[in-house]
Amino acid sequence: MQANGHIIPCIDLARLFFSRGLKVTIITTHLNVPLISRTIGKSKINIKTIQFPSPQHTGLPEGCENSESALAPDKFIKFMKATILLREPLEHVLQQEQPNCLVSDMFFPWSTDSAAKFNIPRIVFHGLGFFPLCVLACIRQYKPQEKVSSYTEPFLVPNLPGEITLTKMQLPQVPQHDKVFAQLLEESNESELKSYGVIANSFYELEPVYADHYRNELGRKAWHLGPVSLCNRETEEKACRGRESSIDEHECLKWLQSKQPNSVVYVCFGSMTVFGDAQLKEIAMGLEASEVPFIWVVKKGAKSEGEKSEWLPEGFEERIKGKGLIIRGWAPQVMILDHECVGGFVTHCGWNSTLEGVCGGCSMVTWPMYGEQFYNAKFLSDVVKIGVGVGVQTWIGMGGGEVVKKDVIEKAVKRIMVGDEAEEMRNRAKEFGNMAKRAVEVGGSSYNDFNSLIQDLRSRAH
Ligand code: UDP
Repeated sequence: MQANGHIIPCIDLARLFFSRGLKVTIITTHLNVPLISRTIGKSKINIKTIQFPSPQHTGLPEGCENSESALAPDKFIKFMKATILLREPLEHVLQQEQPNCLVSDMFFPWSTDSAAKFNIPRIVFHGLGFFPLCVLACIRQYKPQEKVSSYTEPFLVPNLPGEITLTKMQLPQVPQHDKVFAQLLEESNESELKSYGVIANSFYELEPVYADHYRNELGRKAWHLGPVSLCNRETEEKACRGRESSIDEHECLKWLQSKQPNSVVYVCFGSMTVFGDAQLKEIAMGLEASEVPFIWVVKKGAKSEGEKSEWLPEGFEERIKGKGLIIRGWAPQVMILDHECVGGFVTHCGWNSTLEGVCGGCSMVTWPMYGEQFYNAKFLSDVVKIGVGVGVQTWIGMGGGEVVKKDVIEKAVKRIMVGDEAEEMRNRAKEFGNMAKRAVEVGGSSYNDFNSLIQDLRSRAH
């Protein structure tokens, strides 16, 4: 696991295994330990570190041990290549520990063979739900994008329930300048088919049609154990999840408590998106014009409070005092989304954020950018019907792309926060949120699927 959006749910999953009485060891490299330790909290989960290959071997600067520290395209490819060198140290740990099962991220395709060497089953964890997994599999298999004549012509995703349409512009683009990433994705797919199965970060009631399709039509072995973020029950656990927050949790809660139930919109674009000044300015103006109280997480230039940011409109911070809270850096997202005063979420539709928004009972503005986020956006707007699009149509990678204007943002925020449609969406989201909580309780669908996983592993061992 290498990116925050992969590391954090993986740790949640480890905590879930631990809470069900299993012995768990997390294998990582030294520089990722602080984030993991914070997120583990009080659980007695073992962390075993292996050495990340040295800069002489990787061509990376010192300190690049996760994809967040290697976001520039040239570093990213080197980083991906470097992770292949983790194979030997991982095998050494497997030999020492002899676990009953290895759960590893999709970007470690070689770990299926590593585990097989020691007769250990490998399970893949993408951190995704069934809908994006099904779309990815169907597009990979049928290549409908090769049958359209332009990037904007819609096509139906073949062999997928629900008449889902996409365009070529919305599909993940593999960097052209290097084949390493494309090859890694290919290997990831092949290794998934050879692995023991897949753990989905989802719950059955959210997407029964796609859970069944993935298993029965696409023939994949899978267990749904999510939402894994629900293993964070106490406020403190939610506040400590991931990186260190850039805001004191008590201050944040105090601010939220001064608001009406469901009145606040939370705006955050995941752990990696850094918008340019022009886009930030439009977001600021759009939020102000909507007149909806907001918490807005800005990754750019995490400046200390009170300091002026050149991308903010003149006098913005004075005008929004009490009405808007800007968090520069890292926000305790799950804690915020779970608060009763938060009723809406403007999201980039990373699957974790998507699911965390569902758990928090939020209606959502979908603003997808990269990865499989356009699929997740479709899921929110067309399948579960708790989201509306901001109108972006093109896969753009992290940041960049065409600037979404203030008026569009204002309209979208009002649409999910004010009026009958907003209330309907939020009520639906709240129902899903309640189902999610039941799914992970004793006897719930995710709880029971965990038992199936353990039974499967036991029967394999005999
Ligand atoms: N996150 C957070 N605070 C932030 C930004 C992100 O806690 O300021 C967490 C969020 O709760 C989620 C993860 O980081 O669990 C981001 O994963 P996601 O799949 O939504 O997006 P990615 O960052 O992978 O694009």
